[in-house]
Amino acid sequence: MSIFLSDESRRAGNATEICFPQTAGEISALLREDKNTPVTIQGGRTGVTAGAVPESGIAINLSAMNKVLRMPCAADAGSAAGASSESAPTLSGSLTAEVQPGVLLTTLQEQLHPLGLFFPPDPTETTASIGGMVSCNSSGACTYRFGATRHHIRSLEMVLADGDTLSIRRGEYHARAGRFALTTNGGRTIDGTLPRITMPNVKKHTAGYFIRPDMDMIDLFIGSEGTLGIVTQIEIDLLPEPKNLWGAVVFFESEECALSFVQDAPRRPGLRRRTDRHDEDSIGLRCLHRICFGKPRRSGTAMQRPRQHDH
Ligand SMILES: Cc1cc2nc3c(=O)[nH]c(=O)nc-3n(C[C@H](O)[C@H](O)[C@H](O)COP(=O)(O)OP(=O)(O)OC[C@H]3O[C@@H](n4cnc5c(N)ncnc54)[C@H](O)[C@@H]3O)c2cc1C
Repeated sequence: MSIFLSDESRRAGNATEICFPQTAGEISALLREDKNTPVTIQGGRTGVTAGAVPESGIAINLSAMNKVLRMPCAADAGSAAGASSESAPTLSGSLTAEVQPGVLLTTLQEQLHPLGLFFPPDPTETTASIGGMVSCNSSGACTYRFGATRHHIRSLEMVLADGDTLSIRRGEYHARAGRFALTTNGGRTIDGTLPRITMPNVKKHTAGYFIRPDMDMIDLFIGSEGTLGIVTQIEIDLLPEPKNLWGAVVFFESEECALSFVQDAPRRPGLRRRTDRHDEDSIGLRCLHRICFGKPRRSGTAMQRPRQHDH
């Protein structure tokens, strides 16, 4: 039992009960039955901020809700896998899967690999659950290229604090000038005004809710770390698995050159789209060469060729 009172933060918690629901209905019944006892939701417990560590009350562990409910059929996957993910850095629009929240990232990737597909978000800890990744809007090793988890979430099913459920699909509910209204599956309308906050203009930040005046309301729940509901089903977007992965060690002349590279790389054609027909290895080499040693930028510092190390 004690392992369920901790996570990767190594903080030790306390709970009167730990339950392992298998359906959203069971979670709903639990929350309806007792509205006063605090609950803490647990996915893979790989979080490092103790979000899955109960302080008291009931720990709801979602490891038994670990079914992959739907995968793309092999024919659809095959035709999409023929296209390179290099040309589709964001949502592919056609290939999706549906999973329960306790499915681990490693399990999902194992099932996608034979289809030539992958789920791009990768918090580098593959025993993270997909529900936990949604709740933390995890990012990681592939985020610079493919975006954080929210960019790959199409719809969510959730159990709310009162036991009612909410199904929300990307594009379905938008806030208008900060006002929003959502209809639960029980027919209740939840309406309100979003707080006015300025989000930091950086790609990676995970503190607080994602809030914009005209936001897609699914984004409020993604990254809310279980404070707004328990995610019980997730429809995810998939991409063709990259055919080649390149590792490179690049020596920059200065910190400024390295930072320019990070800023410029996504806009450089070699990384954005490859349409030539040559083999992938030589394209990769040329692409890397152009990025690292290419023409000087019009506005400022050149990406300079290293003098001593030529890697
Ligand atoms: C070695 C290592 C490297 C890591 N690297 C990264 C990284 O690069 N980027 C990154 O973002 N994170 C990283 N993490 C942190 C962690 O792996 C991720 O945040 C991961 O997504 C957490 O998923 P989980 O299933 O383990 O969630 P948990 O740790 O179980 O829970 C995390 C939070 O989400 C809530 N939650 C979990 N499941 C649900 C659900 N179904 N519904 C509602 N709320 C839920 C929990 O209550 C908790 O608040 C790393 C962790 C480790 C150990």
